Amino acid sequence: MKNKSWIPALTKLLGKTVVSVSEESRREHGGDAWFAHAMPDVVVTPRNVKQIQQLMRFCHARNIPVTPRGAGRGYVGGCVPVSGGVSLSLKKLNKIREINPADCVAIVEPGVITKDLQNAVKKIGLFYPPDPASAKESSIGGNIATNAGGPRCLKYGVTRNYILGLDVVLANGDLVHCGGRTHKNKLGFNLTDLFIGSEGMLGVVVGATLRLIPYPPARAVLVANFKKAPQSAAAVNAIINAGFLPSVLEVADKFTLAAARAYNPQAPQGESFVLVEIDGQKNSVISEVKSLEKILQDCQALTVKKALNDEDAEQLWEIRRGFSYALKSTGLKKLNEDVVVPRGRLVDLFTFAEKLQKKFAVSVACFGHAGDGNIHVNLMVDPKTADSPKNRQALDLLFKQVLAWKGSITGEHGVGLAKKPWWKLAANHELRSLHQSVKNALDPKRILNPGKFLD
Ligand SMILES: Cc1cc2nc3c(=O)[nH]c(=O)nc-3n(C[C@H](O)[C@H](O)[C@H](O)COP(=O)(O)OP(=O)(O)OC[C@H]3O[C@@H](n4cnc5c(N)ncnc54)[C@H](O)[C@@H]3O)c2cc1C
Repeated sequence: MKNKSWIPALTKLLGKTVVSVSEESRREHGGDAWFAHAMPDVVVTPRNVKQIQQLMRFCHARNIPVTPRGAGRGYVGGCVPVSGGVSLSLKKLNKIREINPADCVAIVEPGVITKDLQNAVKKIGLFYPPDPASAKESSIGGNIATNAGGPRCLKYGVTRNYILGLDVVLANGDLVHCGGRTHKNKLGFNLTDLFIGSEGMLGVVVGATLRLIPYPPARAVLVANFKKAPQSAAAVNAIINAGFLPSVLEVADKFTLAAARAYNPQAPQGESFVLVEIDGQKNSVISEVKSLEKILQDCQALTVKKALNDEDAEQLWEIRRGFSYALKSTGLKKLNEDVVVPRGRLVDLFTFAEKLQKKFAVSVACFGHAGDGNIHVNLMVDPKTADSPKNRQALDLLFKQVLAWKGSITGEHGVGLAKKPWWKLAANHELRSLHQSVKNALDPKRILNPGKFLD
């Protein structure tokens, strides 16, 4: 912002430990895991909800932009403060306030790291299933604001399915409590859901009551590799058609596997790969593994590896978890698109990605959550020209095709800045104007996370 005369008054209101104008801190709060970057005028790191309310009242009165920020591990530039103003970091509100096994709930502050919560509830036999691959780094508040998904969504659903209640500070500083700690609640409109996935544009999530479920006592993982991609797609269909609902059903393509082998010689041969995880009671898991092994072999898997305990399962998972790092180690920038197609279009999507590769002479690596049609189509580009017209054109074709198949341009990461150019294409006039009405009702001065897809 050109006008910075408000900064001393804000510093006086909240204190120097909460408001930082240091260049280093502002730079650090200017980007996420995507490539966009913009400096905020100040970084505000509150220690309690009252300070967030004070901040919002202050900024509301003066039309100062506020961009909420969790752990800054988003993939679409959602927390990039493109209009300057305040980067509101929620990282110090990071307490797990309660884990209650009788009610099967956890009450947390937004800055809690997802994996820390998962580990804490697991110790007492409970399970918080949402598992973005960034779980060790991303925050619950960020997961809520993006409605994060992950490999386990096929069986367990996304973040939304585990939110019972939210405390939200609105643009004018008011604090609202939506939902509560009961597992059912039909009081008024479902406003809790309105804030989930709202990408920091409707309110600041300052507390969440989460649904927990019993931790499954047994799990098993099977990994199979195939000579050609259509065989792994056939295996995915065969598993579902045989009546299985695995907790995880992942696939990967030729480019991803080649990068994985260069990174880790233990990675499998072949041009495609399937990872299946199941969980439940021990006897049923053991018997399901036998059936799944047969299905994979019948689909002409080159090899099938299985793990029946946590330690071995983690080893097989290392192959899948290594994909992102393997792609990174190619030296190329991964433009990670999280498109979703109706599951019947999986093979079409892989074929289309290959065509894209040839047409634009750009490498494309596909891997991800085959079970729910959500495949990460990664354009592997020169980091110096990530935002080039050629790359944009390739993305444009990809998104248009996905929409033609009645898919969505984003299944997990959100729209943010990265997909802003395609918002109009993906949402029709009526849907866009409904979004504007909701935005104007909750944030009439449009100070919350401006510059994103609603502007
Ligand atoms: C290696 C890697 C793997 C990933 N894997 C997955 C995956 O499997 N599934 C998936 O869904 N995503 C994945 N992501 C994307 C990302 O981690 C998620 O979008 C995550 O939810 C972001 O959380 P964060 O705390 O980093 O949020 P940030 O990046 O800080 O913010 C994301 C958005 O949420 C808003 N926001 C943050 N906190 C709040 C709050 N308290 N109140 C209101 N708004 C808020 C911000 O304004 C921004 O719009 C991955 C990212 C990386 C780097």
